[in-house]
Amino acid sequence: MRYSVASVIREALTGNTGWGRAWRDPEPKPAYDVLVVGGGGHGLSTAYYLAEEHGIRNVAVLEKGWLGGGNVGRNTTIIRSNYMMDGNTQFYELSMKLWEGLSHELNYNAMVSHRGVFNLAHTPAQYDAFAYRGNVMRSNGIDAEILSREEVRRELPYLDFSEKARFPVYGALVQRRGGTARHDAVAWGYARGADTRGVDIIQNCEVTGFIREGDRIVGVETTRGAIRAKKVAMAVAGHSSVLAEKAGMRLPIESHLLQAFVSESIKPLIDTVITFGAGHFYISQSDKGSLVFGGDLDGYNSYAQRGNLPIVEHVLTEGKALIPCLSRLRMLRHWAGVMDMSMDGSPIIDLTPIPGLYLNTGWCYGGFKAVPGSGWCFAYLIARDEPHPVAAKFRLDRFRTGRPIDEKGAGPVPGHH
Ligand SMILES: Cc1cc2nc3c(=O)[nH]c(=O)nc-3n(C[C@H](O)[C@H](O)[C@H](O)COP(=O)(O)OP(=O)(O)OC[C@H]3O[C@@H](n4cnc5c(N)ncnc54)[C@H](O)[C@@H]3O)c2cc1C
Repeated sequence: MRYSVASVIREALTGNTGWGRAWRDPEPKPAYDVLVVGGGGHGLSTAYYLAEEHGIRNVAVLEKGWLGGGNVGRNTTIIRSNYMMDGNTQFYELSMKLWEGLSHELNYNAMVSHRGVFNLAHTPAQYDAFAYRGNVMRSNGIDAEILSREEVRRELPYLDFSEKARFPVYGALVQRRGGTARHDAVAWGYARGADTRGVDIIQNCEVTGFIREGDRIVGVETTRGAIRAKKVAMAVAGHSSVLAEKAGMRLPIESHLLQAFVSESIKPLIDTVITFGAGHFYISQSDKGSLVFGGDLDGYNSYAQRGNLPIVEHVLTEGKALIPCLSRLRMLRHWAGVMDMSMDGSPIIDLTPIPGLYLNTGWCYGGFKAVPGSGWCFAYLIARDEPHPVAAKFRLDRFRTGRPIDEKGAGPVPGHH
């Protein structure tokens, strides 16, 4: 059913009996044209664009848990395209443009909010680096503003502008088109859109191995039986190395935990997204009133998705240094997601050396904002067996040939990206 004002009124008058399921719950078929492994944002958007843009509808998404149970439902929902390196700039701007029309495209309210993203600078050198980044963005047609300390103070008066601020605010790089989107609505919107176009979304179906004929991968073993396919696409985020190992591949990926935090609900305080340049801390306010924030990687690798206590203290300390009034707030919940950290901080969307196997991984902290662009480019790669021009630099062999896309100039240290 198409969602519209008319359908809301009709259902209101008829006891809300006609909504139906947002997507079906089909049994897996023995074979498909394409299998997408991983029902997170990237897997679901890939399936959607395969059907919508390339007419490939005999597709299944295989998800070991439930939709939204992975990082797509665990992140802090920030979207932006304030990148500087060739490759990243074009890709994230494509994704931003897709965000702008997404709710309309999916006929599903993804609650995309262009409330702006402030990157705070705390030293003159950092301010210069942000000005440089802003100029690169503008020369690529992406909106960017550089604000002075006083301009930031006018917009965000609750930051610590006192004499004793540990990290004085020097200025900021702002992208007004950046903002947030509702994470689980994005997963559900793509799922519904893909399902409507004939894609089978199969939950509780873990891929446990690959079926080969000679060198070629021709299907997968799952907890619900074997399923064959002409093409198998991996989009399993933090589990990329685990799954790749089953195919005999070693990836330049480390899996790390990143936590998110939610406070009790308060009246509107923060009407934008703020990232703290002197540490790893970022914050926004949800539509329900909670402050949503995050910080650095845990530093203890695990697949448990729980997170640990030292980082709680670390993140709250940074938050309080930036916004002193946070000290009076109660934190309600925190959790973690398993991040697919690449060695240069940039993603991989590529064919693999194994015929029939396609790879999407390496999203680090930034894979939520990439969801539309990633699905768009991965679907193109799967459909045409060649990279989308906008994602042409996200090749797997760049780590071997010495062409990393080192956005932060931090070298191969996942925790620094
Ligand atoms: C705390 C936190 C905050 C973040 N904040 C932001 C942010 O503000 N902005 C931003 O842009 N990005 C952010 N990210 C990053 C972003 O969430 C991820 O990069 C992105 O969601 C990863 O892609 P995905 O949605 O496809 O992953 P997931 O949702 O994790 O999807 C992968 C799916 O694969 C499934 N799977 C794994 N193995 C198998 C298997 N063998 N068989 C079948 N299924 C399998 C998993 O169950 C999972 O559902 C954050 C991440 C975290 C953890």
